[in-house]
Amino acid sequence: MIKENIEAIEKRMADAAARAGRSDTVTLIAVTKNHPVECMKEAAADGIVNVGENRVQEAMEKIKEFPENHLVWHLIGHLQTNKAKQAVAHFDLIHSIDSEHLLKAVDKEAGKIGKVQDILLQVNVAREESKFGMEVEDFPRISALAKELTHVRVCGLMCMAPNFDNVEDTRPIFRIAHALYEDMKPQFPEGQVRYLSMGMTHDFEIAIEEGANMVRVGTAIFGPRQY
Ligand SMILES: *Cc1c(COP(=O)(O)O)cnc(C)c1O
Repeated sequence: MIKENIEAIEKRMADAAARAGRSDTVTLIAVTKNHPVECMKEAAADGIVNVGENRVQEAMEKIKEFPENHLVWHLIGHLQTNKAKQAVAHFDLIHSIDSEHLLKAVDKEAGKIGKVQDILLQVNVAREESKFGMEVEDFPRISALAKELTHVRVCGLMCMAPNFDNVEDTRPIFRIAHALYEDMKPQFPEGQVRYLSMGMTHDFEIAIEEGANMVRVGTAIFGPRQY
């Protein structure tokens, strides 16, 4: 099932990119949170390289099961500052930098182990009270601050759209996120800002049409999560 699901999603991703006239690469992140390691191994055997987890503890337990660790680990869920140390030690890309406080904590922990941590800034474009992400108004200031820090490397922007009944309603949200992302690029060294992470199971095609080059898909690959 997982193999077929991945193939179907990759086809839909390619179709969405074609509709937008795009020929650049769009990366599929398989969101494996709340799914067992066996499912991850199956996905990896089917060619998945990028995996997304939303809890540091769960990810750490799973990472142990991949001793040769050929996977690329993405932290996509909210990160508490007291977990920054472990996040920095284990994740390749942290998508969920949503405050100045967290940004500084990640920089500090990365500095301690001599790492430059790749990060995305998560922006609450839709202004949902229930969602994490920095306010759009805070984004320029936090982005400028990130540029001054030596142990984080800003690689782009992450956003989530609300779970609208009509998926077309996500389009204006993704469009704003894309505009913010394009504005970021010239403020950093050439080529550094290169990931626009947006789109999940219900809205990844629209996200790609609006410029996403990383989509985070869980349910459509693995089925509903067991809590
Ligand atoms: C769980 C999660 C996803 C994947 O959601 P699906 O609807 O299962 O595809 C994507 N992004 C974030 C931030 C998540 O927490």
